[in-house]
Amino acid sequence: MERTLIIVKPDAVGKNFSGDIIKRFENNGFKLSGAKFIKMDKKKAEGFYYVHKERPFFGSLVDFMTSGPVFVISLKKDNAVKDARKLIGATNPSNAEAGTIRKDFAESIERNAIHGSDSTESAQFEVGYFFKAEELL
Ligand code: UDP
Ligand code: MG
Repeated sequence: MERTLIIVKPDAVGKNFSGDIIKRFENNGFKLSGAKFIKMDKKKAEGFYYVHKERPFFGSLVDFMTSGPVFVISLKKDNAVKDARKLIGATNPSNAEAGTIRKDFAESIERNAIHGSDSTESAQFEVGYFFKAEELL
């Protein structure tokens, strides 16, 4: 079994999509491994997205991710990372396939409803960034 890290972003939490988004994963064989409902401060969001710190969208992304509460979730399944990315869909919802989470819940390339780890290495970093070992099942 592999773990991945999902974040229901402030746009989707604000529109009460958290339950629907979690349901998509449960319906597709994922098991909850850990969860917390938090509001990130600037330092926490900047550290999470450090790989993007030189990108033009970084400042705006950090402002968005700290604009309201987020649901941080660790999910478990065989091939969790790859299978979650498939369910989530393309970064820009206008390019996302029908039936994907971003197609159905995202507003824009920035306010795109959900984060999902993009590799097993980043999943390990990201799960550890939010959860202590004893907070994970
Ligand atoms: N993002 C943005 N503008 C862009 C690309 C990305 O605002 O041109 C935001 C968007 O919220 C995205 C996040 O930055 O989810 C991280 O970007 P990444 O390329 O890692 O996309 P993801 O892995 O989330 O699909
Ligand atoms: Mg990414």
